[in-house]
Amino acid sequence: MNPRQQELHARLQQVRRRMADACARAVRPVDSVTLVAVTKTVEPDVAADLLEFGIRDFGENRPQELWRKASVVPGGHWHLIGHLQRNKVDKTLPLTTLIHSVDSLRLLEAIEAEAARQGRRVDVLLEVNCSGEGAKQGFEPDEAEGLVEAIRNLKQVRVRGLMTMAALTDQPENARPAFRRLRFLAESLREKLAGTEHPLDQLSMGMSGDFEVAIEEGATLIRLGTSLVGDLPAP
Ligand SMILES: *Cc1c(COP(=O)(O)O)cnc(C)c1O
Repeated sequence: MNPRQQELHARLQQVRRRMADACARAVRPVDSVTLVAVTKTVEPDVAADLLEFGIRDFGENRPQELWRKASVVPGGHWHLIGHLQRNKVDKTLPLTTLIHSVDSLRLLEAIEAEAARQGRRVDVLLEVNCSGEGAKQGFEPDEAEGLVEAIRNLKQVRVRGLMTMAALTDQPENARPAFRRLRFLAESLREKLAGTEHPLDQLSMGMSGDFEVAIEEGATLIRLGTSLVGDLPAP
């Protein structure tokens, strides 16, 4: 292994240990949490190294970057975690495993229409602003509660769950109320959509600074960038 691969491997082991400890505290099986490696700050060869080490899931926040990296790292599952413009939906659908960042009804309907055109089923999460910061993207929690009928009408798109970003802070505990709020919101929507094809059982929450708290609060997908691929040594 080159120095960069050694460092990546060591970080991955460390992250996996911390994930396992958080799962133990929450009395959850370790395989109930999927690690999404956020590769937005690195070139695709780093994703290729992670794939070698058993990471399957990769996150990108810009659609064009996702298209580029997905095409050169075959075998990865690519997650879009940032804003999707409606004119980029067509190219994004065939390359993406899960869109975490559906942040408006217009986008949800554009994805439904394009999925019908392409004859595919598409899995999405709704992004919810649970931290009460004006500038954040996503639905407000009560707005999300109001989407039940719109979700019921979807035929091609399956709403798997919800995603949130906590406010940046150096105290992971500060993120707990936002994560808990997302979990309660998903439970409420799940009850209202029981018996439909929208399971609402996935929670994408937790980044490098707060993923252990997120796991304690029920995260099923955590999105880690810096702690895995930040400031890597040269290969
Ligand atoms: C960049 C990014 C992450 C990863 O953040 P880190 O703090 O580097 O782990 C997670 N989620 C989203 C939506 C991001 O844009």
